[in-house]
Amino acid sequence: MTALDEAGPAEVPAVIELAGASKIYSGGVRALNGVDLHVESGELLAIVGPSGSGKSTMLHLIGTLDRPSEGTVKIAGYDVATLSDRELSALRARQIGFVFQQFHLADGVTALDNVAEGLLYAGTNRRERRERAAEALDRVGLGHRLGHRPNELSGGERQRVAVARAVVGEPALLLADEPTGNLDSVSGSGVLTLLRELNTAGTTVVIITHDAEVAAAAPRRVRLRDGAVVSDG
Ligand code: ADP
Repeated sequence: MTALDEAGPAEVPAVIELAGASKIYSGGVRALNGVDLHVESGELLAIVGPSGSGKSTMLHLIGTLDRPSEGTVKIAGYDVATLSDRELSALRARQIGFVFQQFHLADGVTALDNVAEGLLYAGTNRRERRERAAEALDRVGLGHRLGHRPNELSGGERQRVAVARAVVGEPALLLADEPTGNLDSVSGSGVLTLLRELNTAGTTVVIITHDAEVAAAAPRRVRLRDGAVVSDG
């Protein structure tokens, strides 16, 4: 971790900085082609595009799950190309909260413990993890469901648990991949409202979606087509 700490800049950096970022898969597919993206702390944006436009590839780069083939990707000021796999995992654990379409909660585990799991890498003890998890669940409106397991919750509630798990460690960035894709429209708009509330409270939020209606919920929309940004505003 020392290398990661030492590599960090002194002033507040952009949360996301992509410069000429490309991803070329084996076989020569250019899934992303020279993308520039600058996201400041406190922004709420949607990355939107049709199937095959490069959204998942972008998610992998921003989420530091993959490195660019060309160009640079900096998250919270750290250039992912300069970090080892271990440092990258640490960066991800500290700086990025993920929310997925499929929720990815552990079955048979209470909402409280699912959220507390989000702090496993934070170096806090179990009691503190559970206290902070309870606070995070309260924040997403589930303070009365701490002991419920995923199969005892509605889809919308499950996604709220996943959002609580993503933000419990107070990451710089919340990255939500089709967060309403598995929800009915009422639960879906509830989750979008929650993401907007978290953003208002200071969290930087990026929503990745193919759904124009979901994208419309964000003040800034970055449109992808054929691996390139075709509009941003
Ligand atoms: P989206 O998430 O918008 O549907 P993707 O990022 O998954 O787009 O894909 C962008 C392009 O890259 C598509 O043409 C897809 O077929 C291709 N692609 C994605 N992953 C791979 C891979 N692992 N190997 C080769 N080509 C890939």
